[in-house]
Amino acid sequence: MISPSEQQVLASVSLDEPWKLVETFSTWVREHPNDVNRAMDHVVERLRAFGVPVTVHEPQLYLSLPGKARVEANGKTFRAKPPAYSADARHGLEGELVYIAANQADDIDTIFDKKLDRKGAQQARARGRIVISEGYASPGLVSQFEELGAVGAIAINPGVDIHWGICTSVWGTPDLDDLPRKPKIPALAVNNPDGKALIELANQGARVTIYADMEEGWFKSKLPVVEIKGAQEPDKFVLLHGHLDSWDVGVGDNAVGDATMLEIARVLWQHKDKLARSVRIAWWPGHSTGRYAGSTWFADAFAIDLEENCVAQINCDSPGCRWATEFTELSRMSETDTFISEVIQDIANKKAVGERPHRAGDYSFNNIGISSYFMLSSTMTPEKRADMGYYAVGGCGANIAWHTENDTIEIADRDILLRDIKVYLSAVFRNATAEFLPFDWRLTAKEFLRTIDRYQGKAGDRFDLSPSREAAEGLLQSLETFYRDVGSKKIPAREANRIIMDLARILVPINYTRVPRFRHDPALTIPPLPTIATATELSDFDEQTLGFALTQLRRGQNRLVSALRDAARIARSEERLARAAA
Ligand SMILES: [Zn+2]
Repeated sequence: MISPSEQQVLASVSLDEPWKLVETFSTWVREHPNDVNRAMDHVVERLRAFGVPVTVHEPQLYLSLPGKARVEANGKTFRAKPPAYSADARHGLEGELVYIAANQADDIDTIFDKKLDRKGAQQARARGRIVISEGYASPGLVSQFEELGAVGAIAINPGVDIHWGICTSVWGTPDLDDLPRKPKIPALAVNNPDGKALIELANQGARVTIYADMEEGWFKSKLPVVEIKGAQEPDKFVLLHGHLDSWDVGVGDNAVGDATMLEIARVLWQHKDKLARSVRIAWWPGHSTGRYAGSTWFADAFAIDLEENCVAQINCDSPGCRWATEFTELSRMSETDTFISEVIQDIANKKAVGERPHRAGDYSFNNIGISSYFMLSSTMTPEKRADMGYYAVGGCGANIAWHTENDTIEIADRDILLRDIKVYLSAVFRNATAEFLPFDWRLTAKEFLRTIDRYQGKAGDRFDLSPSREAAEGLLQSLETFYRDVGSKKIPAREANRIIMDLARILVPINYTRVPRFRHDPALTIPPLPTIATATELSDFDEQTLGFALTQLRRGQNRLVSALRDAARIARSEERLARAAA
C-alpha cells in the first residue's frame, strides 16, 4: 500500500536531473582517483545546487590501477587486461604455460566462487608455471593458482570482450593481518577466442611472456555523504549507498546508480519533514580499484555510529539498465524479504525473488551486523538472456557490456531507470518512516532451520547438529512472542526497534561472517551459518582429517548456539516482561 505521503514523495521524482548525470558520466572515464574526484565534485555541485547539505570526506585509500597488458607467445601478441591488484609485470614475466580446466561460471551464484575442485592433483602441474583457466580474473581463481604455486595466472573470459575486475581477496584497504593475502603474482584476463588459442599453445608446452603495467599506492579520495535529518529520531538512520568509480565510463555500472541516489537526495530533501528517521546517502570511491575501499573506510571510520544507529543499509548498483524488466535475483537478507517484496509489488507491479547476498557489492557492514537489501537491481528474464546468448555477469542488469568499453549510454534505459529510482526511493522512505522497523526475524530463524537441516542431511551420523536446531527453534519461539507483542503494540515502538536492531548485530554476523566484528571477511563466498558449514564436507575427508574437521565443527557449533541463545534472550527481553508484570 502506498501511503498518501509516499504518493507525494513519488510524485516529485523526475528523470531530468538523473538523466543529465547519466549523460555527463557517459563521457567521463571514472577509474583514476583524480578523475573520480572530479566526478565526485560534480555530484557535490549538483547536490548543493538543490540545497542538500553534503559532507565530503577525503580518506586515503590504497588502490591498484590497472594499465596496459598483453600476452606474447610464438611471436604473436594477444590482447589482455590486468585486474586491479595484479602484481606488476611491466617488464614481462616469462614462463611455461599450463592449462588447468575450471568449471565455466554459468550463473551469478558461482562467478565469485573458487573454481577448482581438486587441489592436490593440480599442484605439480601449476608450480613455477603460468596457469591459464576459464573464468573471470577473480580472487577465487587467482588466489587458488597462487596457492598452487603458479607464477602467473591468465583467466579466459566467456565472450569476445575482456572484462575488467579485481583479483584481491582482501576486503577494502588491507591492514597488517590482511597483507599476506594481497596477490603476489601477475594476473591477466583474455577473451575467449584468444584463450582457446593459448590453450592450444599450452598443450604444445609453449612458453609465454605476460605483461601487466600496474600502479599501486595511497590516493586521497573524495567521499560525499548527504544527511537528511529525520524529524522524530534524527540519530537513527537508513544508509543508501553506491559506487561512483567505475571501469571506463561505466554507465550501467554504475552511473545509473549514482543518478538514482542523486534524485533520491533531491526529492527527500524536499520532503524532509515527512521523515521520522534520518537518511544518509553515500557515493563511494575505490569500489573497482580497491575492492570496496570507500565503503570499507566508511564502515571503519563510523563503526560505532553505525552499530548504534544504522537501521538498514541499501546498496544501489546497476539500476535502470536496458531490458532489465524483472526483480528476480534480488540480494536481500531474509528478514527484509516481506518488506522489499511489498515495495516492488506496489511500485513496479512485479514479483520479487530474493536471494542471499553475495560476498560482494559494498556489503561492507556485515561484520557490524546491519540488515541489508538490494545490491544489483533489476535484471533481464532468463529468456531474454538466452535469446541474446548472454553469459553471467555481475552488473548492468545482465547486459554483458558489464566491466567493458561497451558499458555506454545505450545500456541505460530511461523508463526502467525512472521505475527503479521510485523502487529505491519507496524502500528508503518506508524504512525511514515506518513506526516499527519492517524487518521480520522469524524469516531469518526459519532460514537458519532450513540451513541446519540441510547441513545435518549432508553430515549424516558423523556429527550431531541438534543443539544448533534446538537453539534456532528456541529463537523462533521467542520471536513469535515478540512479533505478537509488536502486532498488538504491547511494546513501545522505540523499544521494539532497538530489539530489531540488536538482533541484527548478532544474527547478521553469525550468518555472513567468519572473522570477528569490526574486521572484514575475505571477498570469497561465505556459506550460510559459516561456523557449521564444514558439516557439508565431512564425506570428503580421510579418517585423520575428519577428526580435525569435527573439532572445528564442535567449536563452530558452540559459537552458533551461543549467538542464537543471545538473540533469543534479546527477543524475550526479560526486563521488558518483568516490567510488564510489575
Ligand atoms: Zn557495480
